[in-house]
Amino acid sequence: MKRTHHCNELRSEHIGQTVTLTGWVHSKRDLGGVNFIDIRDREGRTQTVFDPQDVPQAICDVAAGLHSESVIEVTGKVRQRPAGTNNDKIPTGQVEVLATELTVLNQAAVLPFVIDDPEVAAKVNEEMRLKYRYLDLRRPEMLRNMRLRSKVAIATRSYMDEQGFLEIETPTLFKSTPEGAREFLVPNRREPGTFYALPQSPQQFKQILMVAGVEKYFQLARCYRDEDLRADRQPEFTQVDIEMSFIEREDIYALIEGLLKRVWKAALDMDIPTPFKRLTFEEALNRFGIDKPDTRFGFELVDMTEDFKGSSFKVFSGAVASGGVVKAMNAKGLACVTQGQMETMTDYAKSFGAKGLAYIKVESGEWKSPIVKFFSDAEKEALKTKLQIEEGDLILFAADQWLTACEILGKIRLYIAEVLQKTGKLTIDPKRFDFLWVVDFPLLSFDKEQNRWYSSHHPFTSPVAEDIPKLVSEPKAVRGQHYDIVVNGVELGGGSIRIHQPDVQKTVFEQVLQIPPEETQSRFGYMLEAFKYGAPPHGGIALGFDRMIATLCGTPSIRDVIAFPKTAKGTDLMTDAPSVATARQLKDLRLEVKAAPPKDQS
Ligand code: ASP
Repeated sequence: MKRTHHCNELRSEHIGQTVTLTGWVHSKRDLGGVNFIDIRDREGRTQTVFDPQDVPQAICDVAAGLHSESVIEVTGKVRQRPAGTNNDKIPTGQVEVLATELTVLNQAAVLPFVIDDPEVAAKVNEEMRLKYRYLDLRRPEMLRNMRLRSKVAIATRSYMDEQGFLEIETPTLFKSTPEGAREFLVPNRREPGTFYALPQSPQQFKQILMVAGVEKYFQLARCYRDEDLRADRQPEFTQVDIEMSFIEREDIYALIEGLLKRVWKAALDMDIPTPFKRLTFEEALNRFGIDKPDTRFGFELVDMTEDFKGSSFKVFSGAVASGGVVKAMNAKGLACVTQGQMETMTDYAKSFGAKGLAYIKVESGEWKSPIVKFFSDAEKEALKTKLQIEEGDLILFAADQWLTACEILGKIRLYIAEVLQKTGKLTIDPKRFDFLWVVDFPLLSFDKEQNRWYSSHHPFTSPVAEDIPKLVSEPKAVRGQHYDIVVNGVELGGGSIRIHQPDVQKTVFEQVLQIPPEETQSRFGYMLEAFKYGAPPHGGIALGFDRMIATLCGTPSIRDVIAFPKTAKGTDLMTDAPSVATARQLKDLRLEVKAAPPKDQS
């Protein structure tokens, strides 16, 4: 190495030593002809001094002419900083290097944005940061994210190895899979008109690896989904993908709890308590209105169906009469809700098909609400006790089919927490991690528009054994052996015990999901065939690696933990991918492009 020390290494005990540092010009100050240059590498920074009394003027002139982010090598003697000039903000702040030699390894051009001031840098717009990602990654916060990601990857690998898992890579060029999302297609030049698909996950391969007798598999797998991107989605992302044979659900819970314990320790030096809480899908919806509940705050949903089934307020009694429910929630202390906030919540309710949002504001000892006049004393009393209503509260209602009513209030509950956090009425400890398992999902969900059942997880998920006979006759009642792991309202991952009997798998494909037999054969024939030759019972899980790292770093955006992420439109702003293919490439693939590419691809 050219250097003798890195830039976060020198302390008082190095005083008097001659050292060489290499790195970037982080900042530069000229104090009456003496130049102070902070040199930075990925470990930290050190102050160097170019004083014309100690080094030839020519070297001082070169130092004075350096641009920010130029790459330099400095040799000099470590000395105590003069009294009163220590910098307590950095670990090397007691000392400085009195330069005797300077080599400019590369002079940097003027930067498109400032990176030495964290406050200014934090305000740079994300498009700039992505276009000049290599500069953005030099910022200590981004380097910290990359370092943490690397640590977690290594901790994951060593834990899985200790547990007897084999790390096996599976192909990226694959065929269409059935997991719901749209796939990226890759044209095959050798046989024009045929395409590979990039895998949404290695699901089928990991199951086949179980048939192959691997017993315990894992991989940090790259997955691809051509979806419209939301804040926490990327077209390509990484999963910790896991599969095991001869197990039950409990084995996966124990394995993952151990893994997360190891990861949280490695990344944050935190001991997280295990085992994690478990909530059934039904309880999660009933209490929190969502299947990935954030349990760090209250505002739980309360069921008022029984109390309002005979109400003279027809919106409530009518919902019950048509098989629905009445749910309510106490947004404690939010009677002061603004008109705008009320409108946002009403819009959420409407987006689920509700006509409006019923509410009560408790102010000056009064229940202010257009609907209270319809309530009987018994109904009011029930509300008071069940919701523990007090002065300053805001009560919100949803009367609808069970799932819809839960989901409306679930969405509003999250919004309320956001509002209260912003106004300082709710504080959530950033070091708090509420882990929980959501279990007992229904195997199937019904798609009203298409009038058919689809898999709640994916079609390889096994029904609970005693529900197998109901698969065709009573699909709604079939419970799936699927589980999700959730932390602070974020779904970290999910998986299931799989179907390993070819006849049950065929029934699910053809009779439950109604995939025509020819299609079953062309898409999954190889799997059904493999299962004929001795498939062990097996199950697995996949954890969203990017999301896990974002949670550990405390950032809401997974883009901050991916070295080269894409924009919401799927573009890489640094390389300008995707881009048009040349006529030659298209000719080789025998493809013809009919539409002109849109001008603005950012
Ligand atoms: N393949 C599933 C997914 O990507 C995870 C699993 O079932 O193991 O969500």
